[in-house]
Amino acid sequence: MKKKIVILGGGFGGTSVYRHLHRTFHRDPRVEISMVSETNYFLFTPLLHEVATGSLNPENIIEPLRSVIGCCLTNFHEAKVESINTKKKFVTTHEQKIPYDILVLALGSKTNFYSIPGAEKNAFTLKSLDDAIALKNRFIEICEEASEEKDIEKRKEMLHFVVVGGGPTGVELIAEMQEFLVDTLRRQYDPKQIARYIQCTLVQNEAEILTQFNPRVRTKSLRTLQKKRITVLFNTSITSITPTRVHMKNGKPLHARTVIWTAGIKPRTVLFDTKVPQLPNEKLIVSASLQLKENPSIFVLGDMMTIETPNACPPATAQAATKEAKTVAKNITRIIKGLNVKSFRYHESGKLLSLGQWHAVAEFKYVVFSGAFAWWLWRTIYLSKIISIRKRIKVALDWTFNLFSPRDISRF
Ligand SMILES: Cc1cc2nc3c(=O)[nH]c(=O)nc-3n(C[C@H](O)[C@H](O)[C@H](O)COP(=O)(O)OP(=O)(O)OC[C@H]3O[C@@H](n4cnc5c(N)ncnc54)[C@H](O)[C@@H]3O)c2cc1C
Repeated sequence: MKKKIVILGGGFGGTSVYRHLHRTFHRDPRVEISMVSETNYFLFTPLLHEVATGSLNPENIIEPLRSVIGCCLTNFHEAKVESINTKKKFVTTHEQKIPYDILVLALGSKTNFYSIPGAEKNAFTLKSLDDAIALKNRFIEICEEASEEKDIEKRKEMLHFVVVGGGPTGVELIAEMQEFLVDTLRRQYDPKQIARYIQCTLVQNEAEILTQFNPRVRTKSLRTLQKKRITVLFNTSITSITPTRVHMKNGKPLHARTVIWTAGIKPRTVLFDTKVPQLPNEKLIVSASLQLKENPSIFVLGDMMTIETPNACPPATAQAATKEAKTVAKNITRIIKGLNVKSFRYHESGKLLSLGQWHAVAEFKYVVFSGAFAWWLWRTIYLSKIISIRKRIKVALDWTFNLFSPRDISRF
């Protein structure tokens, strides 16, 4: 009897588990590995902000999952997972039932709007490739409209861009966005009409940005944002968002027509036939070996889970998801060989944050540095993480062209 390993999700966690297991069990008659994902591609999220700001072509930051799976093409199902039956051990998608012996859950997360009125309806997000394309289109479309607007107050409102959330996604996006709006579009429009009215505001509900980073990274990043004339509002909680206003607990509302919400995530959920341990925010609670306690044949990793021992819990990052994937693959191999599973231990390799062209901040243990070298390191490391050589070359070419020519401002 073949052991059926089914991986749900083709993101950082899912593809890494697949690649580790495939290396071990390829052509092994005892094991069959398959993957289910609602998109047919793997998305390299760390470069999403570069698509939104015209630095990279959208198709260069995705990899078709069938290419990732390579030789075992029949084992990929493009489908949305709806439920899991833990008793009879099968997964239901919108079109079929897929039986499993061992299940790997890596469905990632979605944007959390914390039920703030108008946020979901009126704000843009940056979680998917569609989001990044929509955002780039918005920047171009609103500049186009503003260039025709005669009323100065309305034009200012059109050219005020607000990013909510001072975490790494919000900070990287606003730094790159400001350069795209001011530097690139300045060459395409009359500067008196557009560039002089552009205003970028970052809204953070805490006293500092980048709270999960070293304090020196926070200071350096804030200084860079301020040098770029980005306004940063601290301790500011948003109460509602309308198509033209951002209302806050304290202070006057911001007049802006483009708001981008990067302030939080919550796990993607799936229906279980039984009660599974979850946090109030719906994250699944797993044991140190990354298994569901009552259902050890189910492994969970990435943004969907938290580990029961609080101080062992890794952050919701791609770096953590790929490290967890290694443990999940090892533990599945051990189960198949009849050995005991091992606990996951997270050791962070370091953190990198890009802050526009030629500038980044790096944190490795207690060493923090910034500037052009950190930026080169950021690009080199992320380039090496892209799965295929073909896409690495394409991204490198896009980046090289950007050094000599303005970014592409065609609207899709
Ligand atoms: C803009 C942005 C920038 C980021 N930058 C960084 C960074 O620089 N460094 C870093 O370490 N992390 C970064 N992250 C975080 C990182 O992307 C996530 O932590 C990581 O992707 C989590 O991996 P995952 O496998 O849990 O989920 P994902 O990579 O999101 O994969 C989830 C997969 O599940 C599929 N899926 C979802 N629901 C269903 C369903 N119902 N049925 C079938 N398939 C489904 C999706 O299509 C996807 O393939 C960034 C995230 C964003 C949004």
